Formats: sequence, C-alpha cells, structure tokens
Amino acid sequence: MDDLTQPLVHGNRRALSRAITLIESTRGDDRLRATALLAELPHRQALRIGLSGTPGVGKSTFIESFGQILTAQGLKVAVLAVDPSSARSGGSILGDKTRMEMLARDPNAFIRPSPSRAELGGVARRTRETIRLCEAAGFDTVLVETVGVGQSETLVADMTDLFVLLLAPAGGDELQGVKRGIMEIADLILVNKADGALRDTALRTVADYAGALRLLRKRPQDPPGYPRALPVSATTGEGLDKAWAQMTELAEWRREHGHLATRRAEQARQWFLSELRAGLLARLDRPEVRACLRQTGDEVARGALDPAAAAAQMLDWLAAARAADS
Ligand code: GDP
Repeated sequence: MDDLTQPLVHGNRRALSRAITLIESTRGDDRLRATALLAELPHRQALRIGLSGTPGVGKSTFIESFGQILTAQGLKVAVLAVDPSSARSGGSILGDKTRMEMLARDPNAFIRPSPSRAELGGVARRTRETIRLCEAAGFDTVLVETVGVGQSETLVADMTDLFVLLLAPAGGDELQGVKRGIMEIADLILVNKADGALRDTALRTVADYAGALRLLRKRPQDPPGYPRALPVSATTGEGLDKAWAQMTELAEWRREHGHLATRRAEQARQWFLSELRAGLLARLDRPEVRACLRQTGDEVARGALDPAAAAAQMLDWLAAARAADS
C-alpha cells in the first residue's frame, strides 16, 4: 500500500497536496505510482459541481461566498480549476488562493490552483484524478472552476454532476452571445451582480435567460422547471442559499431516479477511452516511431504510397514493434 493512502483517506491535507503533485507529474515512475495509488483508494462520492464564467463575471467572489455557506453547514469543500489559458501562457489565474482569502483559511476548504504549463488533455486527466483524490479524502463537494472559453466548459461538464454558468447582467435584450451549446449543458444559470444599480438589469437578464432555457429541448432526466435561471449577488450573498437549494434538489432528483449513476458510468467510459487514446498517441511519440512516421509520410507525399494504405501499414508496424518489445 502507498504511504500516502492511509493519511489521505483520513483527510490529511498535506497527504492530499502531495498526492495531487504526484498525479500532476509526467515522469514515468510517478505515473506508475499515481495509477497504483488511485487504484487502491476507496470510492467515495462528493457532489461534483462545474462552474464556468468569463473573466470578471465574479467567479472567485462567488466561490469565496458560496464555499463559506457550505463550510458553515459542516460540509467539506474542495475547489479545483481547469484553466485553458494557463496551458498557453504558463500562468494560472483560476483557483488562486489569494482570490479566495477567507475560504483558503477555512479548515473545511481545500483550494488547488490549476498547474501551469500543461496541455488541455493533461489538465483534464489531472482534474479527473484530483476529483477522485478529494473524494477519497472525504470532501463532500468538489467545485471545478473554469473560464468560459473554448472547449473547457464541455470538458468540465463531462467530469461533474451539475454544471453552473455564471453570467453578468446584460443591457438590452441580447443574450450576451452565449453559445447554444453552453446553454444546453447548463443546469443552472446564475446572473451575478444582482445588487445596487445593476439589480434591475440583472432581473431582466434572468427573465431573458429563463425564456431562452424554456425553448431548449426538455430533459427527461430532470424535474419540471429545470434548467433554471436565478439572480445572485456574490458580494452581498443574496440568492446563494437558493442557488445551493436548487443544486441539491436537482442532484437528489437525479440520484433517486438513477440518472446520476448513469451519467457517472458514461463519464467513466469516456475517461477510459480518452486515456486509451492518449496512451496510443504517446506510443507514437518515441524516436524510432517518429523516424518511421517521417519516412512513411515522405512516401505518401511523393505519391508512392496511398494515405490509407500507409496508415494501415504503420499500424501493423506498431503492433509488430510492440510484440518485439514484450
Ligand atoms: P472572476 O474573474 O470571474 O473571478 O471575477 P472576480 O470574482 O474577480 O470579480 C470581478 C469583479 O466583479 C470584482 O471587482 C468584484 O468585486 C466584482 N463582483 C464580483 N461579484 C460581484 C457581485 O455580486 N456584485 C457586484 N456589484 N460586484 C461583484
């Protein structure tokens, strides 16, 4: 049994941090140890909530207030981040502890920023595995935060039980250019900053989104009225209790009707397939394979070999090389 296993399942935070560092490592021996560690951890289930919103919409302010509502109820909350921008820039903005100062000091909360310099595929694996570690360490709720750009929302929705979209009050009646695909995966739309001078605009925005949500296809796995739009204020805390009540109502319904288990089973299947794909791609990333790829590619470019035939030949070559290895 791994040294980290016992302290981790007893909720030791240092052990949890070290286990996350281990799963973030790309060294071969660390990967082996991480895989073995994950395999021996008990399966516990937290409520996994994905949270997305563009920069400035109030994600960190929201998590700071919302997280404290949960910890005040005695719940243990973990905050993780999927940050596609850090994959490119090498700097991480999300899940930064200085953005959530009070929550970061809360003994019932655990905040882990996104690692810098990782590919989106690597970030996805790391986040899925980190969720597993947090669950094994006894966390009740895992919040996965992401910036609303590119494919990160779908990625986060595919590893969580509920997906919450945080939006800003919008002037006029345009729907802020939120893509239909994002609306379709949102379980709850929260219009933030529904306070002070922005309150009326926020309430109108909620009505606009509620209307747009009603036009989407009805979801057989959800109770009537979902997905919903609600006004909240991360600064004053107004609406946050109600938002939590709706998240738990929806999660309970899905659990009772077996939809949560189905969703997780499908997610596990997809995770397996993406690990397999990553493993196969990694196999192409070896010097002797790269040389063969280059050579075959040259033949295809010269017209000496048909692309499809070349791919088939390459697959045979890989299988033979693999057999010779073992
Ligand atoms: P993030 O980039 O999505 O994490 O957004 P932040 O949480 O950093 O918030 C961006 C700005 O919006 C900050 O100046 C916050 O003080 C402000 N803000 C966040 N939530 C609210 C809110 O509920 N009401 C108002 N009026 N301002 C807010």
